Amino acid sequence: MYINLSDLKEIGGSKQVSLELEFHDLEFANREIEIEEPIKLDLEIFNTSDSFVVNGKLQAELILSCSRCLQKYSSPVELDISEDVLKSEMEDEEELYLDEIVVDNIILSLPMKPLCSEDCKGICPECGQNLNEEECDCEVEVVDPRLAKLKDFYNESEDK
Ligand SMILES: [Zn+2]
Ligand SMILES: [Zn+2]
Repeated sequence: MYINLSDLKEIGGSKQVSLELEFHDLEFANREIEIEEPIKLDLEIFNTSDSFVVNGKLQAELILSCSRCLQKYSSPVELDISEDVLKSEMEDEEELYLDEIVVDNIILSLPMKPLCSEDCKGICPECGQNLNEEECDCEVEVVDPRLAKLKDFYNESEDK
């Protein structure tokens, strides 16, 4: 998507742009990031002598996969945009290419470990049950190495 800048030729001038943008899903570091609603952008673009400065807000609804239970969940984001697009790097000074700005800002906002909720219980490592939905009957033994030694000790003494 491009923003037409043919009316922003004057250095020192600025213009406001509000738009909604249908956007494709993203893939980043083997993660699928679905974008549900059209992305909303409210931007102010300034023409400086060697660049266009883009400031404003981006609102989007992302669908992420929880790193604990692997379920998809919806995550609304509202980001402050602040970009400096060099004229020397633009194909055409009358068109501002938005996609890169949108992708970079969304990817930077992604949590390292997305969680559907702070207290997501995850899935059972034995049977794969989603423990947020239902408990399972697996006994998952978490053995502390110090306790394991103690257990061996008791087992040995029982044998005698
Ligand atoms: Zn979860
Ligand atoms: Zn289980």
